[in-house]
Amino acid sequence: MQTFEESGINPLIIKAIKELGFEKPTPIQELTIPYLLDIKKDLVALAQTGTGKTAAFGLPILNQINTESGKTQVLILSPTRELCVQISNDIKNYSKYLNNIRIATLYGGAGIDKQIRELDSGCQITVGTPGRVLDLINRKKLKLQNIQYVVLDEADEMLDMGFKDDLDAILAATPEEKQSLLFSATMPPDIAKIAEKYMKNADEITVGEKNISAENVKHHFYLTKARDRFSALQRIIDAHPAIYGIIFCRTRRDTAEIADKLIENGYNAEALHGDLSQAQRDYVMNRFRIKHMQLLVATDVAARGLDVENLTHVIHYNIPEDPKIYIHRSGRTGRAGKKGTSITLLHSKEMFRLRDIEKQIGKKLNRKMIPEGKEICERQLFHLIDKVEKIEVDKDLIEPYMDVIYKKLSWLSREELVNHFVSVEFNRFLSYYKNAPDLNISENERERDSGDKNKKPKQRKANEEFSRFFINIGSKKKLSPTKLMGIINEQTRTRDIQIGRIDIMDSFSFFEVDTQYENEILSAFVDYKYKGMNVSVEISKEKKNDTSKPFKKKNFSKTKPDKRHKKR
Ligand code: AMP
Repeated sequence: MQTFEESGINPLIIKAIKELGFEKPTPIQELTIPYLLDIKKDLVALAQTGTGKTAAFGLPILNQINTESGKTQVLILSPTRELCVQISNDIKNYSKYLNNIRIATLYGGAGIDKQIRELDSGCQITVGTPGRVLDLINRKKLKLQNIQYVVLDEADEMLDMGFKDDLDAILAATPEEKQSLLFSATMPPDIAKIAEKYMKNADEITVGEKNISAENVKHHFYLTKARDRFSALQRIIDAHPAIYGIIFCRTRRDTAEIADKLIENGYNAEALHGDLSQAQRDYVMNRFRIKHMQLLVATDVAARGLDVENLTHVIHYNIPEDPKIYIHRSGRTGRAGKKGTSITLLHSKEMFRLRDIEKQIGKKLNRKMIPEGKEICERQLFHLIDKVEKIEVDKDLIEPYMDVIYKKLSWLSREELVNHFVSVEFNRFLSYYKNAPDLNISENERERDSGDKNKKPKQRKANEEFSRFFINIGSKKKLSPTKLMGIINEQTRTRDIQIGRIDIMDSFSFFEVDTQYENEILSAFVDYKYKGMNVSVEISKEKKNDTSKPFKKKNFSKTKPDKRHKKR
């Protein structure tokens, strides 16, 4: 299928999407639209975010819905409220010329009564987050007996966020006869299991890691010492005066801290993380979307619902441990035919992570040198000159002031005038970067630091800012560090919490977590069962460095937090 017209989709839907600027189908749409219009089998579609997935399932579903009936025929599940609202709005836009299409948007953190009223009024399509959808099913307000399509959007994210049990319960409640569609960026084993368990003989469509934008994204990295990370970030931003980008940080705390420092230093930046209320998040996202803000500092989870087309840069303040996260983040730039750059800040000991990412994306990340003061001043200067040259002048508005201005500046020659005016902006950067040191790591330092490039960093020592917890399960119950991290993420429903050292023993284990999340951890494990066993988690009284244990300990560390820059 080369065009939407030849797909046989209702011309009224095509009219609506043309108005949205959809000229021709994206690769995933080319494959899924004819499939879903023709074939009634279950389908697993693997494609990155931002590749046009919503229309890939939304258009053929809309085309086949029975608008005469108000019964719920479609259930779309997505991991976050933001994504849920976005899908719902997208489908409303595609169907704006169709009569009688009603869509319910069901997510937590908002009044349930309004959503119940929406459902009672008869909606053919429901879009929701797993928790709220399950709640409405249990209250018998969301009826599933007429469901013909179930869509799991960003299924990998839903699992990562700990919705596995909810998904199991929802899918088990849907009728046997239906078409299930699973959209995911990757195919981890859990997704494969869901596909196996709830889908019948599903076909698979993959557009690979080939994000529609991938060719437009340049991948750069900058090597610097951990303590210079923030200064390096500042220089990179200063060297790109027209930057419009997201800076990704690992934790909420880092996010808030980096944003605060940027604001203190006069940058047009704000933080987006899970500690903000929904209203605050909406406010920040909106300001960013309409470009009232140049830099958004965000955690992965908080940025999930943000749909912004024309980002010039994505900056990984810390290199992500999981290459999948790198791919997700980087896919946010270079969209809609525009060019973008994905920038990673790292120190030599993190080089092995770079290699993992390169393997996954099938591309090399190019090392760039952190610009020196002189280069930044030059770039700023030419940006200023360019702005001056291109600015639209409203003669009528400035006319009344010109006489006074001419008089005041009449003693300056043309050349002096240009010098003065350029210096207004330029002096700031000149004085800031005067005698600025080189922040790059030299080849010698790099070799010394990295040693064997495949060697993973040493374990982080137990740290004062981490609290140590005892959990009454261990390797006898097949608990592994990865499994434990997964359980913590799932129970707390976030990946924002920094996990430190993990010690797995035979019948119990210890793990460290960022102290600020102590209460969250304790409450997350109330009533938690592991393989049918009641699990108890408590703050450990064991001394962190007590090595005189009669049992064999296995130590692991998920993260190697570097807090040195915070002291700057
Ligand atoms: P999605 O993956 O559904 O979030 O889509 C990513 C972005 O691509 C959204 O802003 C869509 O509006 C846009 N989009 C989807 N399909 C097309 C298309 N065929 N042509 C142009 N833009 C599209």
